[in-house]
Amino acid sequence: MEDENCIFCKIVKGKIKSQKVMETDNFFAFLDANPRAEGHILVVPKRHFVTLLDIPDKLGEEMLNFIKKIASDLLDKKKGDGFNIIMNNLECAGQAVKHAHIHVVPRKEGDGMHLFV
Ligand code: 5GP
Ligand code: ZN
Repeated sequence: MEDENCIFCKIVKGKIKSQKVMETDNFFAFLDANPRAEGHILVVPKRHFVTLLDIPDKLGEEMLNFIKKIASDLLDKKKGDGFNIIMNNLECAGQAVKHAHIHVVPRKEGDGMHLFV
């Protein structure tokens, strides 16, 4: 179900411009407007879900395959030496946009970014 006020639903529908990275029937990947690293990608299901827990199992499996494709492309194209997959679920965990999304963040040797290490 689309949320009328949801910016990611608008991005999926092309009502808000974004830089598309890849698209399938059920998923859309685009560049983060405020990248934490060059090439920082957001992956969203086209349907409006709020958190990981709302995404049906079968779609979740498809999402993981889509993320793997995005991440392996990123390595193939040398946009990173590695990558982080991050998903913020609910407000206290840093979820600002209430449409489930996964961050795919390219990492480079010596980039100085510290997440959990
Ligand atoms: P969250 O903190 O909810 O996990 O991350 C939301 C992400 O969405 C942020 O990294 C933010 O930069 C990105 N974002 C918010 N609004 C827009 C937008 O209109 N376009 C794009 N491309 N990214 C957005
Ligand atoms: Zn939405």
